Amino acid sequence: MKLLFEKSLPGSCGRYLPDSDVPEYALPEDALRKTPPALPELSETELSRHYSALSRRTYGVNCGFYPLGSCTMKYNPRINEELAALPGFTEVHPLQPEHTVSGCRAVLDLAEDALCRVTGMDAMSFQPAAGAHGEFTGLLLIRAYHRARGDFKRMKILVPDSAHGTNPASAAMAGFDVVNLPSREDGLVDLDALRRAAGEDTAGLMLTNPNTLGLFDTGIREIADIVHEAGGLLYYDGANLNAVLGVARPGDMGFDVVHLNLHKTFSTPHGGGGPGSGPVGCKEALRPYLPASRLAGAVSPESIGQVRAFHGNFLVVVRALAYLLSLGSDGLLEASETAVLNANYLLHRLSPKYKAAYSGRCMHEFVLTLEDLKSETGVSALDLAKALADRGIHPPTMYFPLIVHEALMLEPTETETKETLDEAADLFLELYKAAHDRPELLKNAPLNTPVRRPDEVAAARNPVLRYTPGEAAQE
Ligand SMILES: *Cc1c(COP(=O)(O)O)cnc(C)c1O
Repeated sequence: MKLLFEKSLPGSCGRYLPDSDVPEYALPEDALRKTPPALPELSETELSRHYSALSRRTYGVNCGFYPLGSCTMKYNPRINEELAALPGFTEVHPLQPEHTVSGCRAVLDLAEDALCRVTGMDAMSFQPAAGAHGEFTGLLLIRAYHRARGDFKRMKILVPDSAHGTNPASAAMAGFDVVNLPSREDGLVDLDALRRAAGEDTAGLMLTNPNTLGLFDTGIREIADIVHEAGGLLYYDGANLNAVLGVARPGDMGFDVVHLNLHKTFSTPHGGGGPGSGPVGCKEALRPYLPASRLAGAVSPESIGQVRAFHGNFLVVVRALAYLLSLGSDGLLEASETAVLNANYLLHRLSPKYKAAYSGRCMHEFVLTLEDLKSETGVSALDLAKALADRGIHPPTMYFPLIVHEALMLEPTETETKETLDEAADLFLELYKAAHDRPELLKNAPLNTPVRRPDEVAAARNPVLRYTPGEAAQE
């Protein structure tokens, strides 16, 4: 596909600006550029076609099924977009006098109250801009808590091997040493290993529950007791709250700090790179360390400081509040129950052929292992993912969590109908058969997508991020 720069026709123009009615002002010579900027020149028609073509090449929740595990690619109601686009929210400045933005302040207060009630926390900051940023902030709270008590030796954070990769990375960024906790056969936390690891140097444990395998750790109260008795704190990775909204609260399970991904569970579209919001909530004992924010009244001298300008990505909070209020507590519960039901239904439909990495019921997502399929047919998780993309379904998350070989992780979410799940299941089963009968079909897939099999290692190691005129555009 040609870039706008390549389509440029000098002299074409798609702007309708009136003649200027203010006197021209001659800029000083040294402020003028020597050559005009190399901007593309196109008519409005060409521009409109270009962006429509781009939009047809991308895949979103509004195109079809998108079971990308751990990412919660659910449909985000348009009403929440509309509310976040109200001029009273979009045309304010963070430095306006407070009495002129009392509506915005009310949004932050109401959202804090609602999300604290949902999570069982006592206070919340909306500054962090994403999940990983929330983790980093939450870990700084834990560090500040121990330091304020003169407890400087607690420098270890325990992280199960099923954790999202951002967990150990955030702990390392916050200056902690990461201790990897091996999971049991059944995918849950090994209590004996935890007892051995927890001690005087433990700052805390980071846990996702249900974890990234889609399993709820029923030993959570005992886990919490072990960590607390050792003097550590519990951190809840609440990036995906889809299984527990209105059902169970991290605060009641024994967690002291949580982050949420408003851009996963609470109605902000994501996948295109932002903006997101990863608010951090905490129990009363950690409130003094929360990030400083001007509207929060007097800033605590013990605050870890600001982690982002002003109040973070405010409009994401508006969408979250609209979502919470439009669903209400019954609606949130129903959303979670449907998310769990949909995941179990899909797992049930696939299990005659596909092997679940862990047996039993799942929560909002589940993980398949294609190890056997690969040894029988040579068809890998990647091949199946490519074949799905060819047939109009976004592939599941691949090769994660790392402890499962040939992993495919599916999260259908609550916003899909039974018919969509059935269609997807039929396709999975059809491809399973094809893997045995005609494996080359899957090995050669995809044939219909704009990009086929890019060299992912090269793309990650040597990304080409800038267009150089005259050079061929990358696929
Ligand atoms: C998505 C996710 C994160 C990271 O969130 P970002 O907003 O991408 O930084 C952390 N933990 C879990 C379990 C996740 O699914």
